[in-house]
Amino acid sequence: MKIPFLDLKVPYKELKEELDSAYARVMEAGWFVLGEEVDAFEQEFSSYCGAKYCVSLGNGLDALHLILKAYNIGAGDEVIVPANTYIATWLAISYAGAAVIPVEPDVHTFNLDPRRVESAITERTRAIMPVHLYGQPAKMDSILEIAHKYHLMVIEDAAQAHGAHFQSKPAGAWGDAAAWSFYPGKNLGALGDAGAVTTDDSGLAERIRMLRNYGSRVKYYNEIKGYNSRLDSLQAAFLRVKLRHLDDWNRRRKAIAQQYLDGLMDLSDIIAPVLLDGVDPSWHLFVIRHAQRDALQKHLERAGIGTLIHYPVPPHLSEAYSDLGKRAGAYPITEEMARTVLSLPMGPHLAQESVEIVINELKGFVATNLSCSS
Ligand SMILES: *Cc1c(COP(=O)(O)O)cnc(C)c1O
Repeated sequence: MKIPFLDLKVPYKELKEELDSAYARVMEAGWFVLGEEVDAFEQEFSSYCGAKYCVSLGNGLDALHLILKAYNIGAGDEVIVPANTYIATWLAISYAGAAVIPVEPDVHTFNLDPRRVESAITERTRAIMPVHLYGQPAKMDSILEIAHKYHLMVIEDAAQAHGAHFQSKPAGAWGDAAAWSFYPGKNLGALGDAGAVTTDDSGLAERIRMLRNYGSRVKYYNEIKGYNSRLDSLQAAFLRVKLRHLDDWNRRRKAIAQQYLDGLMDLSDIIAPVLLDGVDPSWHLFVIRHAQRDALQKHLERAGIGTLIHYPVPPHLSEAYSDLGKRAGAYPITEEMARTVLSLPMGPHLAQESVEIVINELKGFVATNLSCSS
């Protein structure tokens, strides 16, 4: 690939000195799980998010799962979730023992459609889990309004939305709690698996602190049946370095997104991302739609341009959820997205010239496609 979808070697080049010195600091301290680096990262990340508490964890899936556990949401409960999310959001609900209630997205923004949320609520509904998909915040004002009306919890899946805002308020600061992933490819990425919960709810933070560490507050005194989902000191030290660059790196993503948006403006059969009024996305992904998506992806591949599909199989049609008995056609908007979405190269280290090449290849594809069909 001349232009890879994402190159995770380049960030190291930019931050080598800072990351190497963080590594040396942890090695010399000789403390590898939780501890001072983790405490410091939790403080820095909670203040970045505008939240009172941050509890770091092993990964983003655990963050979603442990929020549900700590709120005692489980068997007999229903949780509303986008039909078109990464499967992790669904799995967290399943792990907790609750029922997944999928709701179709808004066809333009790809995010949970508040109008459809209300009609999915039953007496068993306990929580709504909006996902800020691709880094664009969901319509949180309307979602909170519905949640208050029906006394539901709001748990944000903010795994793609580090630094995103809606109506000037950070993604993750809207609901009762937010789940974060620091998987290497995320906007704030560790050099391995990592995740966190942010919240203003001190009780929730305390319960998750116990759950992540075998259900204990004091070592070897176990109050509840917990898990092991602790953050490594080394990952915390790396994340502290990368957090300092997050806003700058998000600004670079924004410039790339703008270059794509300008370049694709008059390519009528390519559907560019549509932004909701008041959002400032993190641009985790730049996702276009095209009726001949597979042909377009091959065309770009031949030109040496790496792309990905987020996501090719909607959770309800995945083998893992065959027990739901949902057939093709159950969630038509979600299924249409799975057929047509394509994620273009995006990241803070993508060169302006590379974006220009991608845009030109897209133009070339549209032009040949037009002459074929006429
Ligand atoms: C990455 C991601 C997760 C899961 O995070 P992990 O750290 O990989 O467990 C959950 N939800 C969404 C939307 C994600 O993009």
